[in-house]
Parts: sequence; C-alpha cells; structure tokens
Amino acid sequence: MRQAAGGRTKYVFVTGGVSSSLGKGLTASALGRLLKCRGLSVTMCKLDPYINVDPGTMNPFEHGEVFVTEDGGETDLDLGHYERFIDENLHRDSNATTGSIYSAVIAKERRGDYLGKTVQVIPHVTDEIKERVARLARDDIDVVIVEVGGTVGDIEIVPFIEAIRQFRRDVGRDNVCYVHLTLVPYLAPSGEQKTKPTQHSVTELRSRGIQPDVIVCRSDQPISDGLKRKISLLCDVPIEAVISAVDASKSIYEIPLVLHDEGMDDFVCKVLRLEGRTTEVDLAGWETLVSKVEEASDKVQIGIIGKYVNLPDAYLSVVEALRHAGYYHGAQVDLEWVQAEEVIGMLAGNHLRNLDGIVIPGGFGERGIEGMIAAAGYAREHDVPCLGLCLGLQVMVIDYSRNVVGIERANSREFEHSTPDPVIDLMDDQAEVADMGGTMRLGSYVACLKAGSQVAQAYGEQVVSERHRHRYEVNIRYRRRLEDAGLSCSGTSPDDRLVEFIELPGHPFWIGTQAHPEFKSRPDRPHPLFRELVRASMARAEGRLPRLLALDGSLGAGD
Ligand code: GLN
Repeated sequence: MRQAAGGRTKYVFVTGGVSSSLGKGLTASALGRLLKCRGLSVTMCKLDPYINVDPGTMNPFEHGEVFVTEDGGETDLDLGHYERFIDENLHRDSNATTGSIYSAVIAKERRGDYLGKTVQVIPHVTDEIKERVARLARDDIDVVIVEVGGTVGDIEIVPFIEAIRQFRRDVGRDNVCYVHLTLVPYLAPSGEQKTKPTQHSVTELRSRGIQPDVIVCRSDQPISDGLKRKISLLCDVPIEAVISAVDASKSIYEIPLVLHDEGMDDFVCKVLRLEGRTTEVDLAGWETLVSKVEEASDKVQIGIIGKYVNLPDAYLSVVEALRHAGYYHGAQVDLEWVQAEEVIGMLAGNHLRNLDGIVIPGGFGERGIEGMIAAAGYAREHDVPCLGLCLGLQVMVIDYSRNVVGIERANSREFEHSTPDPVIDLMDDQAEVADMGGTMRLGSYVACLKAGSQVAQAYGEQVVSERHRHRYEVNIRYRRRLEDAGLSCSGTSPDDRLVEFIELPGHPFWIGTQAHPEFKSRPDRPHPLFRELVRASMARAEGRLPRLLALDGSLGAGD
C-alpha cells in the first residue's frame, strides 16, 4: 500500500490493554484536541472488532447510544466524543467494524475482484482494514487518529493489530505513532500501584510486532516518577513517553489539559516529526471552558424519562448536551434518571415535583411509552420546561391529541398497529416498506422555522439542519386539528409535509423536535434548544416566573 492522496498525513493508532472501558476514546479525543490546538488539522476514526456491520441494530443496553453522523452513518458512541473534542463533523467512513470489513471483502470475492485467489485474513482482510484508514487521509489532513476498539489479547482484535503493524511499514516509520493505554491499579492491602498488568499488555502487543511509542497509564492517583522509570525501563520507551492519565475530577473536558501537562502532545509530535508544522499550543479557549466547569455553582435538576436509564451510556450525547448547556449558564445540571415505566406511579405520589426540567429522549418500541406520555402531560399542565427528542416529540403529540384535542385513542402505529387514530405514523412513501419496519430517516435534514416562534428565537435563525434517526412522523392528516387546538408546528420540512418541531405558545418551554439535536452540541457551544431548556429550568429552580422565550428578545444566538 502506498501513502496515497494525503501524502503528508500522519497516523496515530490508539490501542488498549488490561481492561476494557479505560477511556481510549476519550484519550484519543483529548489528543485530537491538543493537536488541533497546535494548529494541525485532525480527523478521527474507530475500528470496532465486532461482527455487526454497524451498531444500528444493537440494543442500547448492549452498546449504549448509536451516534448519528451528518451523512446518516449509525456509528459507535465514541464518535460523539471525537466530534465534541475536535469539533469536526465525522462521517460514516469514520467507523469500521469487522462486519463491514468482511462484507466488503466477501462482496469483492463474489465480484471476482480477487482473480481466483484464495481469500485470506492476511492479506485481504488486513488490506481492507488498511484501506479504510488510508481513505481518511486527504491533503488537508495533518493527522488521522485511529482508535482500535477492544483490548489487546482479544481474539477478535488480531487482524486489526496486524493491519496497523503493517501500516507503519507501508507509510514509513515517521508517519505513525502507536499509543497504548493500560491500567495501573492501586492495591490497597500493599498500598502500592502495580505495573505488572502494563508490562503484560505491552508484552502481548510486542508479540504481535508492535512496540508502543507512548504508554498512557490510567489510574486513580498520579503515577510517581519512580514508577514511570520502571515502566520506561521494562516496556522500553523513553520516560517522557510514559503518561500519567489520572481520573479527571470534575469533567472529561479536563483530560486534554492533564495530557498536555504530561507532555503527551509534544512527544507525539516528536515521534511524528511534526515540529516544523505545528504552532505554539493555544489552550486558552479550552482552559476557559474547564474553568467554567469548575465554577458552575447554581444547581438545576433535570429528569431524563427513558427506558434505558439503567445504562446512562444509552443517552450519552443527551447527557453531554445538558452539561454543555449547564457550563454556559454556570450551572451544575443534576440528572435524575426516571424509568419511564414508573412515571405514572411517581406522578401519583407527586415524586416528580422536584424536577426543574424534563427531557424525553429518543427510543424504539412500546415499553414505557404510557409513562413518557404522562410525563409530557405533567410538564404541559404544570409549566415544567420539557424538551422532547424524536420519540419525545412523538409522545408529546400523542399527549396533546388525547388530552387537549380529545382524540382518546390517539397513538403511534409503532405502539398500536391497529389504532383508529395514528397521529404518529409511517408516511405514505414508507408504507410500502412497512413490512420491513419502514426505512429510517437518517442523517441531516433541513427544517424551516416559523418566524417569531420559540424555536426560531432559540436558534437565532429560521433555516436549520439537524440529524435524524427514526421511521415514524407526525401524521399530516391530524396536523390541522392539533394546530386548531393550540399546538404550534413551529418547524417543518421545506415542502411543509413533515413536522420537525412543535411548541406550545404560552408555555415557558414545551418543545419537541423530530431530530436529535444532542449530536451537534459542543462543550463550548451548547445546542440552542438545550441551552434554552436549561435556562427555563433554572428560572423555575429559582422560583422566578419562567420567562416566555417568545417575548424575550434577548435570547438570540449571541446571548
Ligand atoms: N421509534 C421512533 C421512530 O422510529 C422514534 C425513534 C427515535 O427516537 N430515534 O420514529
């Protein structure tokens, strides 16, 4: 393989050892941010060793959130961290799984592309893996950071490790840096931090032909210089390549500063011979963000009414978007995870009255739906700020249809196939494929917002674009009745056929969107809808009369 289009592109491969969940994705993202702060252009990608072609079909309990890219890729949740840290939009090609790689290899084999050769893991699968990485190199990209999912030593990871080993041979030594993350546990009985797991995992990596350039040691306490010397000696890396990555105390956004203090970006640039191309590191913006996180003092309690609340990773981008909004307002957002199935009982016991605001996030399937509808109704009747995301909008429309318009059996066809009043339904062109569950509306779509509406005021513009991932829509046949009864369809598709946003004039904040705005929130640029939800919730927390957004001209984008 040659160093193709992006002849100047450098590559960082991030692997993990000892244990899963060490924070490889966050470490890779933080490094990406540091390289960007040195004036380099960065993109990122994740190689996932599982056999699903993408995570789109996986149960959220298995895999957490599915992160949707602008071009409609259904990807690993780590891509959300990448986008939030490096502030670049990624795409479907930024995530490759074993399943997608084998599918491509098998398709090529069926087409006869291999000219009768025996198709093997090496070289055909490894070539395909390398091709996926090389594809991301462009002339305007300085560094591609590649996270290899899974743990070194797993059976499934072997072809990926082999491919990234070959990659350095292909593109040249100075164009590749291997970063290996390990765990340095503290053993209370002996009162010591232990390096043995690190040694073993580096040995395992070396047995596959890769000598790491940088070793990032994850631990709950800083690694002493003595321990660093030991790791340096035993794992054969210079001492400045041993990075102590202690758990961040307040927020994940501290990680770039921690790694910079350890000299990680300097060292990586040295390995990649990038010194000539980089500027002085400019961390001012990031430091301001981190001090905002530290100074946040007001408290606001937001309930997330969902069905996957036992695994908060299922709502990762929603949580981050709420935090970003909190940083903006100097508020700590306390999350209360509310199991949707328990809402009706909780409302009877008045147990949701402590909530200053409510988010009803996305989801699939019938379980918990009646609880979400009840939560939407409670927020509507009690002036509690409420943001509905995708499924959230749909349950708000069902609540409004049943309890305000008076359509008693209003429902979504997703939850009750033979409902007489499918206020949420597949659209006509989808009905043909309904047997297969309909096609998903995936990726970025434009919406036009009504002048003067709360959503237009929040966004500060009237044409917006958001990412989607759903099958069902507000049924256009009921739109008139909903609007006559006071619901405002304040954002629609440009052809006016699809309802993209709803709101309730006169309510402090009862807004639903058919999209997933959480994917576009950034730590230093909260998404307008989350920003305004938290603002309205803070007003409620302070016992102030919630301000009506539509009457408050000061809430534009520059606010
Ligand atoms: N299940 C709903 C649909 O398919 C909502 C999906 C979602 O919330 N992402 O339309």
